[in-house]
Amino acid sequence: MKTPQEYAQSVRQLDRNLYVLGERVGDCTTHPMLRLSLNTLAQTYAMAQDPSVSEWFVRQGLDGQPINCFTSLHRSNQDLLNKVKALRRLGQETGTCFQRCVGWDALNTLHSTTHEMDQALGTHYHSCFLDYLRYVQNNDLVCNGAMTDVKGDRGLRPSQQADPDLYLHVVERRPDGIVVRGAKAHQTGAIFSHEIIVMPTLALRADEKDYAIAFAIPSDSKGLTHILGRQPSDTRKLEGGAMDLGNARYGTHEALVIYDDVFVPTERVFMDGEWQFSGTLVERFAGYHRQSYGGCKVGVGDVLIGAAALAAEHAGVANASHVKRKLNEMVHLNETLYACGLACSVAGQATPSGTYLVDLLLANVCKQNVTRLPYEIARLAEDLAGGLTVTMPSEKDLQNPQIGGWVDKYLKGVAEVPTSDRMRILRLIENFTLGTAAAAYRTESMHGAGSPEAQVIMIGRLSDLESKKAMARRLAGIESADTADNAP
Ligand code: SF4
Ligand code: FE
Repeated sequence: MKTPQEYAQSVRQLDRNLYVLGERVGDCTTHPMLRLSLNTLAQTYAMAQDPSVSEWFVRQGLDGQPINCFTSLHRSNQDLLNKVKALRRLGQETGTCFQRCVGWDALNTLHSTTHEMDQALGTHYHSCFLDYLRYVQNNDLVCNGAMTDVKGDRGLRPSQQADPDLYLHVVERRPDGIVVRGAKAHQTGAIFSHEIIVMPTLALRADEKDYAIAFAIPSDSKGLTHILGRQPSDTRKLEGGAMDLGNARYGTHEALVIYDDVFVPTERVFMDGEWQFSGTLVERFAGYHRQSYGGCKVGVGDVLIGAAALAAEHAGVANASHVKRKLNEMVHLNETLYACGLACSVAGQATPSGTYLVDLLLANVCKQNVTRLPYEIARLAEDLAGGLTVTMPSEKDLQNPQIGGWVDKYLKGVAEVPTSDRMRILRLIENFTLGTAAAAYRTESMHGAGSPEAQVIMIGRLSDLESKKAMARRLAGIESADTADNAP
């Protein structure tokens, strides 16, 4: 397993075509807009070096060797549970998105899907995938998952778009591989990943074979361009201070990644035209990632609840009954998400490949709650923190010799807490609810791993409403074919 330093060194060596704020960037590891994101990913390596949490962060690889959990397969319900616990722990540690779970979820999805695809269709993807997984595990790589196509006109299928590139697709098939073109949006962590695993974004039809593709490529492959996405208040990272960042240690990033005729060798292709399995692949990946949010968002929620409690203490209102009630409500909401993450793990089952899959109904319930409850937790945090969160002068004002004394004097809360401590906590709340971290804590809670309506559709499909109607008929004494046999 790599140390955090070895990881940083390994991504520094990648020669990617990267743009930040309209300019080409050479070394992505030192750019101030990206540094915090690198710290967070490095923390996924640090955790695996810490013996006190190795139960969650270290697992066995395909050849029995110790590996970082983020490159592992889930071989039991306990593994699924440990995943959720690991993600909560990392959320608590970093207060942001740590960008490595999409790849983890993609690896597990591809393991079971390629196995079943080979069984059903006589293809030979699974052994290619196992070779790839071995490479990832032995080199302790960050795999980025590329799922979301840019989609163009949402009312049209991929092949009906005015521009065929609005969904990533094969443009050429060669004896030794395929050439792909298109773009993937919201690629969390892409710039600091070693590898990108590309999957289809939706279940495809027989006439959409060129879009039914899954493959893995190095993130500095020829033809790839990474364009950093903006986050709220992101240019505070260019100001040089720490306090106004809220979270001065950790951050995250998303990128728009362009695939301009990228060659993928045959041994790195895990689906090419097998549209029949695109739905399975998408459903399983979404299920795993909807489970993930029952861990990571809960960990970030823990920090936000702590910050809201401190803000109340600093303002001298910690003992007010409504403050206690609101904090309890935040805990209740946060633990509800955790309960969902655990539940879909406990109820998960083995797939034919031996890899465990979460219970898809419960994973979708988990994510549907994640589209709502973090917003309420954030609302309560904003309630407790007060308006200063968004009107407070800057760190530079506090440090200014002419006016700093006034800022210090007039932003004071309870006498025993330094004004700068109060300001730091309010800035942290701002970061989570309205700043850079809000991209992950709020909007990603809404749209990450699929927008709310996607879960509603899955919940409807998996809910078995007919069996519930039969239960009601039986107790109401309504005779029907399915109740007659059981009549007393
Ligand atoms: Fe991992 Fe959560 Fe970030 Fe997704 S949002 S990559 S699950 S930390
Ligand atoms: Fe996500």
